[in-house]
Amino acid sequence: MIYWKKLPKEERKNKIQQALNANVNFAKDTSLGYPASKLDGKVFYDADFLKDAPVLQTFVANPNHIGCHTLGDSESAFKGTHELEKEVLNVLAVDVFKAKPNEFDGYISPGGTEANTQAIWMYRNFFIYKKEAKLEEIVILASEDTHYSIPKAANLLQLDWLKIPVSFENREIDTIALEKIVLKAVDKGKKYFIVVSNMGTTMFGSVDNPEDYTTVLEKYNLDYKLHIDGAYGGFVYPFSNENSIINFSNPKISSITIDAHKMLQAPYGTGIFICRKNLIENVLTKEAQYVEGMDLTLCGSRSGANAIAVWMILFTYGPHKWFEKISVLQMRTQFLCNELDKLEIEYFREPYMNIVTIHSEFIPKEIAEKYDLVPETHNNENKWYKIVLMNHVEVQHLTVFIDELKSSVYV
Ligand SMILES: *Cc1c(COP(=O)(O)O)cnc(C)c1O
Repeated sequence: MIYWKKLPKEERKNKIQQALNANVNFAKDTSLGYPASKLDGKVFYDADFLKDAPVLQTFVANPNHIGCHTLGDSESAFKGTHELEKEVLNVLAVDVFKAKPNEFDGYISPGGTEANTQAIWMYRNFFIYKKEAKLEEIVILASEDTHYSIPKAANLLQLDWLKIPVSFENREIDTIALEKIVLKAVDKGKKYFIVVSNMGTTMFGSVDNPEDYTTVLEKYNLDYKLHIDGAYGGFVYPFSNENSIINFSNPKISSITIDAHKMLQAPYGTGIFICRKNLIENVLTKEAQYVEGMDLTLCGSRSGANAIAVWMILFTYGPHKWFEKISVLQMRTQFLCNELDKLEIEYFREPYMNIVTIHSEFIPKEIAEKYDLVPETHNNENKWYKIVLMNHVEVQHLTVFIDELKSSVYV
């Protein structure tokens, strides 16, 4: 760990105060040109408690984090809080995902949907600009358990998505089907492959092996770029599986999505996008001339308070406390699995993740509804219900659920 540590409360408060002092202060400074200000004072008034609530104080000060702060210049009016966003990216890119210092670009996006779209947009343009690819020669590969943000991005960017089947029980990529699909695509004139490999699917928590893709693509000498969707698993898997190699230590991986607004319990609007150097330039919008610095992100203006919220969570915990928190969730997940085993109820669980997805035939519909279990599909063909062991899902809640399930199994 180079960047990530636990900081005491006073130190965190001071760092944020200093960052805000380095920004333009709309309440005091003469700043005439920005189409922005602090939040409306009639509603977001300067309450006394704000001085003890640095994230809320930042929220009211309303810094704009428009743009990408790892490359070129940024809007200098908010340079104080931009620095703290860079600290967040350093922690995640270098300390958690093993990039080398200063060898990555990234930003805090509105969510995982945008981070995934940014990745696909970047690779699409990379193939067009650098390899003279035609649009119809580029295609996306991702498993059938992939999040719907991928077909959404495919639609926006006018690319086909080839959906790779997984086995029903263990949710692993069917490599034989994958090879057939790739060969058929080549036959149809596809030459450039954008791979999205999941590090924790939304429904199952299953983790794809990126090598399943690279082995097939390299066997046929095909051009590809590899993105990891860790929107859900990014704050779980690297901590529960210390030997994980799904990170930038693998030269084949070029970018990663990690949502702070899921496992990290940060406010919505904190998707994180990280990629290797020399890629993000492919989405430069040259026309954005009134903004200081280069425009390299899908979204424009975005809230600096979101970056500060993520910074606060990371530096309140530090790496060891975060590891402990994930370990507790893993123990609760194991508790649930043990109870299901006793009842001979079938389920899927990726051993390093905190999602348990149960065969729907074991769960009466009333129980699923009562406990808000999420079905795989909201129609009559649903085969799975999932339980996500988030922070608020405690053993006492699981026990009540299991007891109710027991009485339904034994009638
Ligand atoms: C939630 C999720 C997304 C999308 O994230 P949003 O933040 O809701 O846009 C993408 N991929 C996976 C695997 C997810 O779990």
